[in-house]
Parts: sequence; structure tokens; C-alpha cells
Amino acid sequence: MIIELPKLNFDPKSLAPAISAETIDYHYNKHHTMYVENINKLIVWTEFENLSLEEIIQKSSAGPIFNNAAQVWNHNFYFEALSPKPEIMPNLILLENIIEKWGSLDNFKVEFNKMAISNFGSWWTWLIKDKNSWKLDIINTSNAITPISNPENSQIPLLVCDVWEHAYYIDYRNKRAKYLDNFWKVLDWKIVERRFK
Ligand code: MN
Repeated sequence: MIIELPKLNFDPKSLAPAISAETIDYHYNKHHTMYVENINKLIVWTEFENLSLEEIIQKSSAGPIFNNAAQVWNHNFYFEALSPKPEIMPNLILLENIIEKWGSLDNFKVEFNKMAISNFGSWWTWLIKDKNSWKLDIINTSNAITPISNPENSQIPLLVCDVWEHAYYIDYRNKRAKYLDNFWKVLDWKIVERRFK
């Protein structure tokens, strides 16, 4: 099975100034594309050759196959929720859940950004919901690790921010907090809601 690179839902120039066309060019056309090319090469003649991307992630152990497959999935998930004309608020049920946990949408963003600044190295910051309780939480995963890597895991990802330096360094240099503030301006809650339901 060929692992495809999904097309972007937006014009690469359209997220500026939050995310520049140059960043999208490097991030999507170079980094994301490279992960897709790598995984397609790595699975040839292996037990993973005919599996879906999700199955490859769940059945591979730590190493290049897992890393590249998980990076493809994480980037698909990240780019899918970006939009130049985003829905800037979640709908009632999701909003109620956020308010119940964090008090307000703004306070949720503050806590999310705090989490996204707290780690050392390269990682992803996620809003997740528990499959059983529907409770929301914010988590970090290092390198390529993804909430979907363990099928037993009850964490369902709803949104992700890429906090690898390549996601923001061209536009923001070392000012990661500014990238995180502007990330919310292009995050489409419509997509997050769809994942929540
Ligand atoms: Mn990235």
C-alpha cells in the first residue's frame, strides 16, 4: 500500500503572517514529504508493506519505520486542522467540556501553550479526549510518539501543535511563545469538533 501525502486544504501563502509561505514550503514540501518518501521506501519487502499507516504505527516498534510512519500521521493531523478562515470557537458540547476542565477557552489556550513551552527538545502538544470518560486533557509526546501508537491507549487526539523547531524557526526564530499565540489564529475548530464527535 502506498502511503499518500495528503494535499493541503489551503493555499501555502494564505496562513501568513501566522505561518509564512516559506515555513509551509519547508515544513510540508520538504519535511512532511520526506517522511512520506522514507516510509514508502522502508516498508518495501517487509511485513508492513500492505498495512495502513495507522497499522504500521501500531505494529512497528521503536526505529525508523515507526518514526517515519508516526511523523507522517502527526503531520497529516497537524496540517489538516490549519485554515486561513478558521472557525475560531469550538461548538457548544466541546466548548462546555473545555470550560468544565479549564474554566474558559482562553484559559485552555494558556494551559496548552504552557505545556507546549515546557519540554526540552522536539515534541508535539495535543488536546486529547479519553475514549471512555470523554474527559479532555493536554499532553506532550516526544519526537514522533503519537497518542494512536498504542491501540490499548484510550487517548483520542483532537488537535495537535507541532513544536519541533522546523515548525516555527523561519518565522519566529527562538520565540516559540509567539508561534504558539499565532497558531490559534489559523487553527480550525470545525476540524477539531469533527474529531471530537
Ligand atoms: Mn513538523
